[in-house]
Amino acid sequence: MPAVPHSQLEAACRAEGLTHLASIPMPGPLAAEGLDRMAADGVGDIGWILQDRHLRLQPSALLPTARSLLCVAWHHHAPVAAGPSGLRRAAYAAGKDYHVVLRPKLGRVGARLNRDCGQEWRHRACVDSAPVCERTLAAMAGLGWIGRNALLISPETGSYRLLGLLLTEAPLEERRGGHAADRCGSCTRCESACPTGALTGRRCLTERCISYLTIEHQGVIPRHLAERFGGWWFGCDLCQESCPWNRFAPPGEDVRLAGSDTEADLLDVTAERFDAHFAGRAIRRIGWIRFRRNLLVALWSVGRQDEARLLLTGAPELVLAQAAELGLAPTAGR
Ligand code: SF4
Ligand code: SF4
Repeated sequence: MPAVPHSQLEAACRAEGLTHLASIPMPGPLAAEGLDRMAADGVGDIGWILQDRHLRLQPSALLPTARSLLCVAWHHHAPVAAGPSGLRRAAYAAGKDYHVVLRPKLGRVGARLNRDCGQEWRHRACVDSAPVCERTLAAMAGLGWIGRNALLISPETGSYRLLGLLLTEAPLEERRGGHAADRCGSCTRCESACPTGALTGRRCLTERCISYLTIEHQGVIPRHLAERFGGWWFGCDLCQESCPWNRFAPPGEDVRLAGSDTEADLLDVTAERFDAHFAGRAIRRIGWIRFRRNLLVALWSVGRQDEARLLLTGAPELVLAQAAELGLAPTAGR
């Protein structure tokens, strides 16, 4: 079977709005160093990353008959500065949940290849949906280098992008991205910009990172970290905003990834309204209780203690425990 020409793959991707891509032969086992270091640093409430260690280190385990790997990078919209409220959330979470948009796109790329080539190749699309080291594989394919902020950066388009993989039985022509060389140089801006000191030694310390703490962490956020939140209530973009390569960031590639949250909206989202308010968005995944915990911390971290206390009336246990951690509970007037 001759290789599928890159032009054919490009056409299939372009039909889905995917223009940043690379294809490589299915890689063999990955080095364990990164995962081991992460484990040693501590993974908090994302221990499942280590449970699937063997799968993460052997990408072909997800589809043993795969011949090729397609890696795509899909740009979301760049962050907007904090408004007068001081509250902020990660730019990628502005609009529709990218998982539910990007993964079907990759599935359709595979289906189109089958149709165009008259084959019945099997494919497996992964967008944060399977135990696979997406960033490492995308770097291997040359879509960028992993910077000091632990993110994949392209010298042409920066890092405001989402990654997706398609493992496929199709024999894709190899076409690397050509951006694998590390171009951080002597820059350390992201390390300096990180408010919690999470970036060190070219890695991100999970348990100190605001993204982890607001999205994955189940319990109370320690006060010594909460006081550095600076208004972030879902994720954090500071190590990307500070990266000089993001001055080249293009506009987001899909209008569905855009959106905004007004402060009035956020503070008025009740437990009953939470699911409907955040329907189709990644934020819904954290649930109302952790959303309220995050709002409490965010308000408190920008000096809005009185407004933070308003969240305590009838609050769930986690929010009350968080308030106690922040020293708010004793004066909550409950
Ligand atoms: S997301 Fe925020 S807290 Fe996490 S490493 Fe980047 S700057 Fe630091
Ligand atoms: S801010 Fe500087 S050190 Fe950090 S990822 Fe960007 S280029 Fe690399």
